[in-house]
Amino acid sequence: MFFSVRDKNNINSNMIIGHNNSKNIYSTVPIQTHAELDGAKKIINKYDGKKEIYNLVLTRFTKSGNYGNSYPCFHCVQQLASFSNYFRIKKLYYTDDNILYEIKFSEVLAMNNTNHLSSGYRFRTKINKKLTN
Ligand SMILES: [Zn+2]
Repeated sequence: MFFSVRDKNNINSNMIIGHNNSKNIYSTVPIQTHAELDGAKKIINKYDGKKEIYNLVLTRFTKSGNYGNSYPCFHCVQQLASFSNYFRIKKLYYTDDNILYEIKFSEVLAMNNTNHLSSGYRFRTKINKKLTN
């Protein structure tokens, strides 16, 4: 995954890359650190009082080398939202079944707050791009 900062002059001016790792990030939830939270911690570590706006890009590869489902889990979405004093996420890009999806992070949050989510639900939005043939 990576966070890319939005900058009118240079869209790639600042990119922060996070990786999955096996450290537990939650004191009460026994799940491992997901890449999006690893990246978020890096943003917080370099926070200098200026709140930045990021797009969050999540990718995941399957064993066969295809893009798998990289939609963030409920806990990560909640954690990312809780860091709103440090940064804001404008858009989420994620992959599923070799398709790249784009969704506003505010919509991700709104859906997380309701019970409309089922695990196989796909949020097809404006970009519906085949990554491979
Ligand atoms: Zn997660």
